[in-house]
Amino acid sequence: MSETLFRHPGAVDLHDHFRAPSEHNNAEDFQSGTQAAAIGGYVIANDMPNTPKHETWTAERVEEKYEIIERDSYIPTGVIGGMQPEADNLTEIPKMVPLVTAFKQYYTKTQDNDIELGPEDFREGTEQIHVTDPTKLVMAHAGEDIEGIIGMVAVDTKQPLHFCHVNSPETVRRIQSMERQYGLTVTKGVTPHHLFKSSFDTRTEGWFARMQPPLTEQGDAEELFDMLVNGDIDIVETDHAPHSLNAKQKVESENPTCEEDGASCFGVTNIEFALPMLFYQAKLGRISMERLVEVTSTAPARIIGVNLSDRTSVDWDLSHEYRIGDEGVVSGSRWTPFQGKLAVGKVIGMKVGEKTVINQGLLADRNSSVVRNGSII
Ligand SMILES: [Zn+2]
Repeated sequence: MSETLFRHPGAVDLHDHFRAPSEHNNAEDFQSGTQAAAIGGYVIANDMPNTPKHETWTAERVEEKYEIIERDSYIPTGVIGGMQPEADNLTEIPKMVPLVTAFKQYYTKTQDNDIELGPEDFREGTEQIHVTDPTKLVMAHAGEDIEGIIGMVAVDTKQPLHFCHVNSPETVRRIQSMERQYGLTVTKGVTPHHLFKSSFDTRTEGWFARMQPPLTEQGDAEELFDMLVNGDIDIVETDHAPHSLNAKQKVESENPTCEEDGASCFGVTNIEFALPMLFYQAKLGRISMERLVEVTSTAPARIIGVNLSDRTSVDWDLSHEYRIGDEGVVSGSRWTPFQGKLAVGKVIGMKVGEKTVINQGLLADRNSSVVRNGSII
């Protein structure tokens, strides 16, 4: 079959866990993670702050990640700052504001964080961000108290707010109700696993299908896809958060029924396959190419205030159709929960600024620049 070329402006991911620096990790680092991102058509990644045992909640730790990005990264990468009350980092926040692309607030249990927090716990820190830069994005998980989080961040403090990885249509409707009530906009992201997998998968895949937030029922997943298509959800964000195959298998043998006080290992490898799975949906007419570009590139770039120049582009060969298998995994984790799913497209060329990152389907060079709000890539 001859090549069917499609030029994409370059995908932008607002949600990655590259797990470095860390002595406790063998699933990923900036080199393997950004290689996987480039192969998946991403030209910008953003690393989340909850790096195990080495959280990004001081300016020094942001600078430390910058050094790693400039040394190891294949694509321009931004750093998202942490601001947990338990980190006691209020005096660091003004120093971090000009360095990070956004701040993340963890209200509920995540890896290495098992406390429950409420909006009031974050008020002072959010106000610190606001006095330093009223345009800086705050990201939060859509947990229990959606209304409280919107009230504190967007209504009271008037800071831009993005809800990460929504996993139920009801959550989207609750956010929209607050948007209408207060006349404001709160952006929302959905992950590939909440679109293309469902809670039933944990019956047959155990810990390989256990993620935070949990996979939802199939009907909800279908509705989330419709919401992405019709504009109720703004972007696709991967939440690429690898655990090694061995780590997943170990927890599967130690805690197969997912007891709450037992061993846990949430996290998912997906950045290589997010766009190919969406291109497959586009092939079947379920999402337009225009909307696919908007939710994977234009909208996420706009949300963090980054500009993609016409020197950056990704050429896809859409005649390449395949079933996903572990052998296609570029991430250091060596597995994917999307085994067997149908996918369309292979990146054959990628230009990122002055650099040709992918040439004739192979990684050729790297663009290791640090992304900040206002960056032109
Ligand atoms: Zn995450």
